[in-house]
Amino acid sequence: MSHVFHRLPKQTLPVAVSGDGIELIDAAGKRYIDACGGAAVSCLGHGHPRVVAALTRQAQQLAYAHTSFFTTQVAEELADWLSARAPQGLDHVYFVSGGSEAVEAALKLARQYFVERGETSRRHIIARRQSYHGNTLGALAIGGNAWRREPFLPLLIEAHHVSPCYAYREQRADETEEAFAQRLADELEQKILQLGPETVAAFVAETVVGATAGAVPPVREYFKKIRAVCDRYGVLLILDEVMSGMGRTGYLFACTEDGIAPDLLTIAKGLGGGYQPIGATLVNDRIYRTIVDGSGFFQHGHTYIGHATACAAALEVQHVIEEDRLLDNVRARGEQLRTLLRERHASHPHVGDIRGRGLFIGVELVADRETKQAFEPGLKLHARIKREAMAHGLMVYPMGGTIDGVHGDHVLLAPPFICSESDIERIVERFDRALAGALSS
Ligand code: PMP
Repeated sequence: MSHVFHRLPKQTLPVAVSGDGIELIDAAGKRYIDACGGAAVSCLGHGHPRVVAALTRQAQQLAYAHTSFFTTQVAEELADWLSARAPQGLDHVYFVSGGSEAVEAALKLARQYFVERGETSRRHIIARRQSYHGNTLGALAIGGNAWRREPFLPLLIEAHHVSPCYAYREQRADETEEAFAQRLADELEQKILQLGPETVAAFVAETVVGATAGAVPPVREYFKKIRAVCDRYGVLLILDEVMSGMGRTGYLFACTEDGIAPDLLTIAKGLGGGYQPIGATLVNDRIYRTIVDGSGFFQHGHTYIGHATACAAALEVQHVIEEDRLLDNVRARGEQLRTLLRERHASHPHVGDIRGRGLFIGVELVADRETKQAFEPGLKLHARIKREAMAHGLMVYPMGGTIDGVHGDHVLLAPPFICSESDIERIVERFDRALAGALSS
């Protein structure tokens, strides 16, 4: 009997025993192309020799030193590396062990910033109905992922939600992108005014939506307009790039393409590429200075923050990405993958939308392409696709959920940055078979 339980205790999962480049291998010797990096994590694939060597070196030299006693050279180096490349002003780095922790730290930094400034009434957080920010209570409270929240309602922390930038379903037929972006920015402004600007601390959004709806990029100008609204009312902008950051979209930070810098930015998955659990919250100088010049320290902390072995893995992952110019490959392979999917599914009756940036691509399935009518939630089409894909030796990340009362079946494709042109062809070919199998079963 298995004594471990992950998500579904009774589910029989294959046992993963090794990894080899873009593939995972189970105990029966079956190979699976990891076309989603788990959950957009494994950006360098599996068993990368340089990362394994860096991990080994660091573990031999010093695995861990508690940050209330020491900093480490490797944590300093990784923070320098990140801040040198981060969007403007994000000069300070707070390391954590994953995405939810990065979001919690961002929320607490935002709150402490206002408390230090004497603006203690600023406590409200506004987020979007289409969002996932993590599973800890604070992160879950701000997220808009209905099925993850529902069992825990009412949540201990109250948050407020506005409409997502979900062009496929929410942009009106007679509306330009610009007008759509303006409508959403106006909605945020109205929400701030309704709550009272002096009570709002931050607006939180994923730069490109990941785990709720499969790689939904914002329309052009959306974040510029959002940034302007936040600035008008002194509200902090927190961008969650736990999934979309660290090169996934073809840029180290996804918001580069949107031409803005947030006040706080969270990263995780691609930072360590799965070689170690690590995340970070990047903090702008104004927030950092206010806290340091005020009470003097951030009132927070976990045992494993700044873990030396995790920092060593992340630093090596990032060096490999930069030295091997992998972001060029992310943009080229992403374009190839989107084009291939669009060509092959140009008239597929159930492929409603193919979207995304870089190697962060979402496919939305619908019962009727013309009306965008979704499949019955009870069919669990997304789960069927996952099952079929696994049978065909392919890992894809499926999502099903309800946003604004509309059910959606989505599949996220997020292959490793190292994948080749022929790898992409193999992924599309297996994905097509999985889709056909799921739709016919
Ligand atoms: N934010 C975003 C945007 C995410 O996609 C996720 C994980 N899917 C999280 C936060 C939470 O990260 P973790 O699971 O590492 O806690």
